[in-house]
Amino acid sequence: MQSTKYLIIGGGMTGDAAVKGIREHDADGRIVLVGDEPHPPYKRPPLSKGLWSGGDEAKIWKNTEGADLVLGRRIVSLDVDARRATDDQGEEYAYEKVLLAMGGSPRRLGGNDGDVVYFRTLDDFHRLKGEVGEGTRATVIGGGFIGSEIAAALVGAGAKVTMIFPEPTIGFRLFPRDLGDFVTQYYRDKGIDVQAGGTVSDPGDIDADVVVAGLGILPNVELAEAAGLPVDNGVVVDEHGRVGGRDDVFAAGDVANFPSPVLGKRFRVEHEDHANTHGRVVGANMAGADEPYDHIPLFYSDLFELGYEAVGEVDSRLEAVEDWQEPFKKGTITYVDEDGKPRGFLLWNVWDKVDAARDAIKAGERALA
Ligand SMILES: Cc1cc2nc3c(=O)[nH]c(=O)nc-3n(C[C@H](O)[C@H](O)[C@H](O)COP(=O)(O)OP(=O)(O)OC[C@H]3O[C@@H](n4cnc5c(N)ncnc54)[C@H](O)[C@@H]3O)c2cc1C
Repeated sequence: MQSTKYLIIGGGMTGDAAVKGIREHDADGRIVLVGDEPHPPYKRPPLSKGLWSGGDEAKIWKNTEGADLVLGRRIVSLDVDARRATDDQGEEYAYEKVLLAMGGSPRRLGGNDGDVVYFRTLDDFHRLKGEVGEGTRATVIGGGFIGSEIAAALVGAGAKVTMIFPEPTIGFRLFPRDLGDFVTQYYRDKGIDVQAGGTVSDPGDIDADVVVAGLGILPNVELAEAAGLPVDNGVVVDEHGRVGGRDDVFAAGDVANFPSPVLGKRFRVEHEDHANTHGRVVGANMAGADEPYDHIPLFYSDLFELGYEAVGEVDSRLEAVEDWQEPFKKGTITYVDEDGKPRGFLLWNVWDKVDAARDAIKAGERALA
């Protein structure tokens, strides 16, 4: 039996950030972080970007300090009344406060999918890198964030890439249609066989050397559900990261469904900036800070030579106002509500405007300072 003041379940970027947040307010209380991957916390974004173009793997580590890391162990049960958790080797953890930072797991295709790489972890990266070289025939299923990044990375590694996804364009859920059409053609011009509108009934039938899937994630809520905690597209938290009105159970990062006071609705965000910021704020709150989370999350991506930063609610279902300095190469897209007020900005090869975008969303103004 281990006894700890703070128990963090999940060894991703959120877990790491929470350790930092706790340590800002409590220098000594014991923190135990249990993660089921064999690695200490690391940054995931380089797995589909820089590590394919000569990036240094030694730089991905978060170098988590101030916590006892228990790695390669999975928490399999949680008793929130007794304040006890148990891992898959039967070890028990008695805690005072617990953070659920279990992130999400890749959505799966089903069927004969034993050889499909559901790309999420450092081990997935190593496996894929080892399987891909000059002339490898690779099929990427999914045209969203991970699919589009991995397809570009595989082209860089010399593979002959096919992409298959059911939507009409790459980035369909994010980009306005004309930009989505442009990006889809741009991928074709890079030599990718883009099969938009395509579906895969059984991945075992795909004629390729390697099949990679990027179909989004499902939040890892099973533990919370079994513990009787509120779950609705993620573990439901309040603005302080507390779960179910308790002050000893918290959740943050990809697994958490949180209220955004600025945007006036609930979100579950699957991005690095949110993992780092929410993790830190909720960690601080576990250690007695009283800090509501009102951060407007950012995410970014690289698509060959194109790059963007997205701030706030970037969703192609909203009306998009496009302002191009150079069509589809450099410009700003503002996603607006029915009153014409900004909900989000897509900064397309436009840099250093993230804070201005956040200010504009808060002020309800479309112009970026
Ligand atoms: C390839 C890739 C590229 C990305 N690129 C970008 C990007 O460019 N920009 C961006 O903003 N975001 C990006 N993201 C998203 C970003 O990485 C995630 O939002 C972030 O990793 C979420 O962190 P998390 O700690 O909340 O969850 P996770 O990263 O999912 O970490 C949770 C950890 O907890 C572990 N765990 C789960 N259940 C248990 C349990 N019961 N017991 C113990 N451990 C458990 C999991 O195995 C995992 O290690 C990318 C993601 C991937 C996969």
